[in-house]
Amino acid sequence: SPDPTLRPDPLPEDSDRSLRPQALSEFIGQAEARANLRIFIQSARQRGEAMDHTLFHGPPGLGKTTLAQIMSRELGVGFRMTSGPVLAKAGDLAAILTNLERNDVLFIDEIHRLNPAVEEVLYPAMEDFELDLVIGEGPAARTVRIELQPFTLVGATTRLGLLTTPLRDRFGIPTRLEFYTEDELHEIVTRNAVLLNAPADTDGAREIARRARGTPRIAGRLLRRVVDFALVEGDGRITRDLADHALTRLGVDKLGLDGADRRYLRLIAEAYQGGPVGIETLSAALSESRDALEEVIEPFLLQQGLIQRTPRGRMLAQRAWAHLGMAPPNAAGQ
Ligand code: ADP
Repeated sequence: SPDPTLRPDPLPEDSDRSLRPQALSEFIGQAEARANLRIFIQSARQRGEAMDHTLFHGPPGLGKTTLAQIMSRELGVGFRMTSGPVLAKAGDLAAILTNLERNDVLFIDEIHRLNPAVEEVLYPAMEDFELDLVIGEGPAARTVRIELQPFTLVGATTRLGLLTTPLRDRFGIPTRLEFYTEDELHEIVTRNAVLLNAPADTDGAREIARRARGTPRIAGRLLRRVVDFALVEGDGRITRDLADHALTRLGVDKLGLDGADRRYLRLIAEAYQGGPVGIETLSAALSESRDALEEVIEPFLLQQGLIQRTPRGRMLAQRAWAHLGMAPPNAAGQ
């Protein structure tokens, strides 16, 4: 039955589901996470039990949802998906939990955004597969305990630090996803180009990989746009020159930074002489939410060594000045 609390299916760039790897063996990168998951999946299968609750954390677009789906497929169980902000009331979660079948995977995206009343329901459910429901109101209210089928909760979050400790402690398998290397993204772009029927030279695929911000979702999005340029302005082939031309037109620079990334760096350079500057100040000056800066923009800039986080705020690193083509301000008298 259609359930309004279940997230309507995927983001636009995922509409072509054929690009999503369907098995662990097709999933490229995250070697350590993959090797561990393989063992835990097989062990759960051998025992015929629900796999332990798993938490994926890391920046958006690195494959958290994809891995959760792969887990359910390899475990041979059902998959249900919802997200923290969508579960407004305890009853919303209770409805989903009571409908799970034995050993199913329940995926909760943005689990750091669960409302506390909903999170309370989750604790006994995760720990003992039990649900305490309050029925009625006032003096007539009573609690009923409902037994649930065993299930695997797979949580995903871009902000591990925002999870409450009791929730975090209930995940037996916490797994951090890392940005992908250029070689891994090259493999992903090459595979996706084949699936999209778009012939890509190895150098063309590499140019996209190099500029994909370490992120498969971005690699997929850039590939589609490059295919558009190749069809309309080229002969359909994705060469290095064609990819470079298309990506430059899209505002994606040599490091893979886009307009929002450069605006962030330029603001610190031009208005704050390289910092340190506080996150709230940046958020106000850029009209971007603090969450968007911390979840989407900063992780890659940090990973690339373009910025540093200090107790007094964000600072540009030497590499950012070089990338912007600007000279850092000279310390007086040096
Ligand atoms: P997240 O849940 O972490 O935001 P998703 O699982 O939705 O990320 O992945 C984003 C997109 O990137 C999807 O289209 C997915 O198919 C693709 N993707 C993610 N990881 C990989 C991978 N290792 N290999 C190939 N494609 C991937």
